[in-house]
Amino acid sequence: MRYISTRGEAPALGFEDVLLTGLATDGGLFVPESLPHFSLEEIRSWRGLSYSELAFNIMHPFVDDAIPADDFRKMLDETYSVFGHKAVAPLVQLDSNEWVMELFRGPTLAFKDFALQLLGRLLDYVLEKRKQHVVIMGATSGDTGSAAIEGCRRCKHVDIFILHPHERVSEVQRRQMTTVTCKNIHNIAVRGNFDDCQRMVKESFGNQSFLEGKTQLAAVNSINWARIMAQIVYYFQASLSLGGPDRSMAFSVPTGNFGDIFAGYLAKKMGLPISQLVIATNRNDILHRFMSGNKYEQHQLEHTLSPSMDIMVSSNFERLLFDLHGRDGQAVKELLEKASKGPVSIEDYRWKHARKLFDSDAVDDKATCDTIREIYEQNEYLLDPHTAIGVKAARNCRRDSSVPMITLGTAHPAKFPDAIAEAGLTVKPELPAHMADLFEREEHYTVLDNNIAGVQEFIAKHWKNT
Ligand SMILES: *Cc1c(COP(=O)(O)O)cnc(C)c1O
Repeated sequence: MRYISTRGEAPALGFEDVLLTGLATDGGLFVPESLPHFSLEEIRSWRGLSYSELAFNIMHPFVDDAIPADDFRKMLDETYSVFGHKAVAPLVQLDSNEWVMELFRGPTLAFKDFALQLLGRLLDYVLEKRKQHVVIMGATSGDTGSAAIEGCRRCKHVDIFILHPHERVSEVQRRQMTTVTCKNIHNIAVRGNFDDCQRMVKESFGNQSFLEGKTQLAAVNSINWARIMAQIVYYFQASLSLGGPDRSMAFSVPTGNFGDIFAGYLAKKMGLPISQLVIATNRNDILHRFMSGNKYEQHQLEHTLSPSMDIMVSSNFERLLFDLHGRDGQAVKELLEKASKGPVSIEDYRWKHARKLFDSDAVDDKATCDTIREIYEQNEYLLDPHTAIGVKAARNCRRDSSVPMITLGTAHPAKFPDAIAEAGLTVKPELPAHMADLFEREEHYTVLDNNIAGVQEFIAKHWKNT
């Protein structure tokens, strides 16, 4: 399987290189040159498979000959056996034909575990084979950092440095990162804000001379293709549980960088009957404004009760734009160059084509809280604020009540106790057993000034510090 860039200029790469690279050299994102397609008969034959068996069938065509089938099966078994529910991605029913798929049963209680638990293993496998080492450098305002740390803690060939803004992430989120005691895990609290952290990461990727050529940086954000790939699986899993592929499904997806929902779009293209995908955003609603009015325009960042969706631009949306433009990289490049300067639209027929599958809604903090309260009162079921946005958008955008509507439950409510309190509920969401002692564990992190030279010096000094 070859991977090409959405901007049409960078050379095509194989799976291993795509895994180890962030952006393509032309600034684009990698996508498969062609997608595998499964017949209804083949999908039907997967009923009753375990999560990891299903994952193998769906992902192996993408990994191809980079990893022998038996090794890949073993890797998937290990990855998904650490999840805290036998079904890995269990469904919970909210109403007669309405469901939440709980994607927060992994070690860090958010859906990012599905991809990052696998990514750590894939990286280590490929690096072992190539006798290479990488440094993962990332900035986090919450979920990505903890999932990446958890996913890479056992890697022999990876050191990971996660920058978070000092005293500006929630205590649960900070402790999930800083209580992991492995020698290759390094937490840096920067005396600055999230943007400062992100800027340092970006600049370091642009100029890696501080590593003196002894190792290289690798990315774990959702521009990494392997993350998208791993997220395709649970759309198939949900469908197969509810009568698919012999009936179509609708999904509502709490969305920030458009990674998770792009995986749903790929599932459809690979043969899974999906009749509707709902893009659920918070007040940072660039995607909703595009889907409802064909205008793509950056606004100021707003801080909301659903921080993992607080974005200004949506990086993976480029992957959809590539398809909407008939996979013309030059057209995507021109569009995005224009978009960095002001509002843009796409041709009406292209936009209408997208609207056949996608609907969208933007849900503010008040409606988020109302939904958390309503669902708790009706079902005694607690939603986290991100999932609540998905449920609300699903209800607002529903086209056909005979089609099962499945909202992706992206985080465990115990990660966001403030939102539950703000919803006026006195019930306290409890951390699962494996995390019950989180507040007693010892923390390890280094506080550094908001200064890139100091941060780079720290990384140069501490990687491979075994
Ligand atoms: C990352 C995240 C999202 C957004 O996912 P994207 O793939 O960026 O759209 C939604 N909810 C939670 C809890 C997250 O951590």
